[in-house]
Amino acid sequence: MKSVDAHLAEILATVRPLAPLELELEQALGATLAEEVSSPVPLPPFDNSAMDGYAVRAADITDLPVRLPVIDDVAAGSHELRAVGPGHAVRIMTGAPVPAGADAVVPVEWTDGGTVTVTIDRPVQEGNAIRRAGEDVQAGEVVLKTGTVIGAAQLGIIAGVGRRRVLARPRPRVVVISTGAELVEPGGQLAPGQIWDSNSFTLTAAVRETGAEGFRAGSVGDDPAVLLDRLDTHLVRADAIITSGGVSMGAYEPVKEALSPLGTVRFEKVAMQPGMPQGFGVLGEDEVPIFALPGNPVSSYVSFVLFVRPALAKMRGLPSGLPEAVTAYVTGPLRSPAGRRSYLRGVLASDGTVSPVHGQGSHQLAALALANALIVVPEDVTEVPGGAEVEVIRL
Ligand code: AMP
Ligand code: MG
Repeated sequence: MKSVDAHLAEILATVRPLAPLELELEQALGATLAEEVSSPVPLPPFDNSAMDGYAVRAADITDLPVRLPVIDDVAAGSHELRAVGPGHAVRIMTGAPVPAGADAVVPVEWTDGGTVTVTIDRPVQEGNAIRRAGEDVQAGEVVLKTGTVIGAAQLGIIAGVGRRRVLARPRPRVVVISTGAELVEPGGQLAPGQIWDSNSFTLTAAVRETGAEGFRAGSVGDDPAVLLDRLDTHLVRADAIITSGGVSMGAYEPVKEALSPLGTVRFEKVAMQPGMPQGFGVLGEDEVPIFALPGNPVSSYVSFVLFVRPALAKMRGLPSGLPEAVTAYVTGPLRSPAGRRSYLRGVLASDGTVSPVHGQGSHQLAALALANALIVVPEDVTEVPGGAEVEVIRL
């Protein structure tokens, strides 16, 4: 049997970071920057008021209260400004440029709010409530480095430096196909022998949780020809494909039957539990990676965490490897098969303990849904006593 590490290493040696594209701002969320972003201008571009109030000369605000004539009104966006001479005030709004001559802004709360004259009853320091040009960013300064994932705030600064497009690796588009003649779309009625398709929802959601784009292409029964046809349809728009089911040792294994003859996808036993049968390879001229995951719901999800997630990270140009593990103390004894690495479902608590959930079968999806961690038991360990230290992967 192949080790988990060898299987992941093979996957990571095959998948490549997606080529960077000029993405419009609307498409850039979740993409990975492939250039340095800098600002062509200082930000803010001009001295402006941090508050609604009055632009004044600080030296005029003595012998309180002071009454000054209001000679102008400056809103955000104004540009023809009257200079503030000695003994004058200008009513000014947040974001409006500070007129020449003024060296402080008195917040409206310190005044009577007058529009013809204003009475100010507190002294003000020079520079008060003025946001200086370049205080956030200097002209030419780098605001985001290559390799940064574009989240909401990063998108904000890209727009904030005036860019419409940015060179970035897009979010991988991942198509999810489930196989199984027994599968029924949730919402439909179950006939005898049928179950509702959950894997395609789990896996599509798992893809999206990593920051990639997930497309659920539904279920294709157990006919290899139908699967090949569906793959053909989706290959053009996919950066990666995930299938569930149809990779075990039985009959009616459509994924194995359809893809084995192509010679570009290998089906192997990986020394793990759950998730022993795994297929991986590439399809088509573009060598689109395909992850043929086992059908049992817990197996396919654990396989996703261990193999697909790191691969998607690599495709995004991000660091990739086995998920990070933390140590915890297990609250009860564990059993694990010899020669296989187990990933038992557990609840990791804030006190550093982890409790295995009831129901460790690879079909027990409800138990998985209660868990927040995988407890890792190494290949050469078959029994772990309660209280022992274990490695845990957070979900
Ligand atoms: P397979 O890998 O196709 O042999 O499936 C293994 C087990 O997982 C069987 O009990 C299937 O019914 C179940 N299974 C396969 N695909 C799904 C799915 N999409 N949703 C829920 N269960 C599934
Ligand atoms: Mg099946």
